[in-house]
Amino acid sequence: DDAIWGHDNAKSQILQIMAQEVKNPECKGHIMALYGPMGNGKTTLVNLLSKKNNFYISISHTTRKPRPNEVNGKDYFFVTDKEFKRLIRNQEFLEYAKVFSNYYGTSRTPVIQNLEKNRNVIFDIDWQGADQIKNKKMDYKLITFFILPPSREVLFERLSNRDMKDKLIAEERMKQFERDVLHWINYDYVVINNDLNECYLKITNLIEAVINDGSKDYDLDYIRAHVEKLTT
Ligand code: 5GP
Repeated sequence: DDAIWGHDNAKSQILQIMAQEVKNPECKGHIMALYGPMGNGKTTLVNLLSKKNNFYISISHTTRKPRPNEVNGKDYFFVTDKEFKRLIRNQEFLEYAKVFSNYYGTSRTPVIQNLEKNRNVIFDIDWQGADQIKNKKMDYKLITFFILPPSREVLFERLSNRDMKDKLIAEERMKQFERDVLHWINYDYVVINNDLNECYLKITNLIEAVINDGSKDYDLDYIRAHVEKLTT
């Protein structure tokens, strides 16, 4: 695994990213889109990336009901179906999609304002949203990441708690994951989340490589084999 990713030093990478942004005031911000199954440490990763690199986290609108501990305006803007439809009509979304049985959308204005101010923006959006943004071919560089769990067992463990009800929900989510994971091929990079810190370093390493010279090779066969293991 390490051989694929090299031995980069995250701190110097972050400094390099910052230096590059400072050197080139004309350079606009980049869009980072992260996607992966629930309970896979994605939210923690987004927060870590944002905190350490000053990325702007886009707060989505959703028609889903808030879970306990979720705060309106922090985790999401929780809105009614009617309000969501109004926002669609007013073209206030950069992208939106139906995920499970609810709608989710990214507000255009705060995202564009931050990108124009040369600030990188990070999203947690599903593959449908990432496709929409890709198809828009905007002036901003888009880098998409698919975060995979290390194994089916670990994912199931992360998705479930002790009681039976949670196990049933976890089984549903496993099925959803098997469908979603087929979209891995459309992502710029697939990163396996064995360990949160390691995963964070891989992502910052890739972002730095893309920003500096446009691309970074990585081992597609290894990822393909991993996806096969996860789905069989
Ligand atoms: P949850 O309801 O668990 O917070 O999120 C469910 C799914 O919706 C996640 O896979 C997440 O990536 C996706 N999602 C959250 N916000 C957005 C958004 O603004 N647009 C799209 N397309 N997907 C989103």
